[in-house]
Amino acid sequence: MKPILVQKYGGTSVASIERLHNVADRVIKAVKEGYAVVVVTSAQGDTTDELFEKARSILPDPKSAKREYDALMATGEKISIALLAMVLISRGHDAISYTGSQAGILTDSKYTKARILDVDTRKLRYDLAEGRVIVAAGFQGVDRDGWTTTLGRGGSDITASALACALDAVRCEIFSDVDGFYTADPRWVPDAIKLDALSYDEALELTHLGAGITHPRAVELARQHNIEIHIGSSFKEQAGTVIKSEVPVEAERHIRGVTCRTDEVKISVLEVPDQPGIAAKLFGSLAQARISVDMVIQNMSRRGINDITFTVSKADYSEAKPIVDSAAAEMKAKTVDYDEDIAKVSIVGGGIADFPEVAAQMFSALGEHSINIKMISSSEVKLSCVIAEADAKTAVQALHQVFNLSNS
Ligand code: ASP
Ligand code: MG
Repeated sequence: MKPILVQKYGGTSVASIERLHNVADRVIKAVKEGYAVVVVTSAQGDTTDELFEKARSILPDPKSAKREYDALMATGEKISIALLAMVLISRGHDAISYTGSQAGILTDSKYTKARILDVDTRKLRYDLAEGRVIVAAGFQGVDRDGWTTTLGRGGSDITASALACALDAVRCEIFSDVDGFYTADPRWVPDAIKLDALSYDEALELTHLGAGITHPRAVELARQHNIEIHIGSSFKEQAGTVIKSEVPVEAERHIRGVTCRTDEVKISVLEVPDQPGIAAKLFGSLAQARISVDMVIQNMSRRGINDITFTVSKADYSEAKPIVDSAAAEMKAKTVDYDEDIAKVSIVGGGIADFPEVAAQMFSALGEHSINIKMISSSEVKLSCVIAEADAKTAVQALHQVFNLSNS
């Protein structure tokens, strides 16, 4: 059996017939190099957004009809796989399209954010052995009842990584219109520098903290199976960023990048009676709905009363709000405050915790630009501050400069 290569192409890369031919060029090159190729595609261009808008013209909150939301959203990728397979066939290559369920991607039944439980690779392996290029739909799977599920926005990268792991591929290549990870988003910081290599841990933090580029769960899966991820642009030949287990870092180069997320909401449950089990109740119900929380802060108890503050993704906001409101009422909290106009800026790098001056530098850089810090959280590899959304760009630029990241 030939070595297996998984390549994933994002929506922009497959947006037109011409671009599908460009993808086919790359696929055919890999075939000629001796690989058995599995291609994973996103939906073409803005298809997924357009499907969402159609659903929204019927239901103000399309996710309230979760099963149908997934049934609809999964159709975008079904178009791009068939088209790419046709393009490959038109160029004399044997290719076959696979939906998520046909590819054996079994998920749980948490519609709109399903998780992959297992991949049954038997059909895939058979077609690969027959010399066919497999074109698999990203972002989707099937649950035990046979219903279509989706993995959450940007989920095609998860599909690619999961297939690379299940098929024990030589690596997983992820192509989009961006050519790799940068020290900061080049649209905000023109002198940002491309990072050639990242450890799984660093890439995981960068993606979680807003670098975009790929999905954190794709990195997490690859880390578990020690599969290298190569990030690159489908429009360029140059190498992008390699994500692998060990990356040598210079002792003085501990900060790899600055990231920013503006897609979160700050939720403060105010004046909660200070009793055991309160936090468990609130966060337990959020976890049950698979809503991730971040930056959890509970202030010190004053006269038996606490404030609990945390952030959730805006994508989860409509689902989180009723859960928090009812938990707050049950906990006899005074009120809940929601702040949508926030940004989380972070600096990321292995061993940040070993350099206490880094935190001081970060806070003073923000202070010098009169940026007020609303929340702070830190770990071994990152330091994050929640600030007003209006200050986000200034903050990222200031941090990139103070840590001298353009001279990496
Ligand atoms: N088409 C889906 C989305 O736009 C999945 C993906 O592109 O990764 O979110
Ligand atoms: Mg997309």
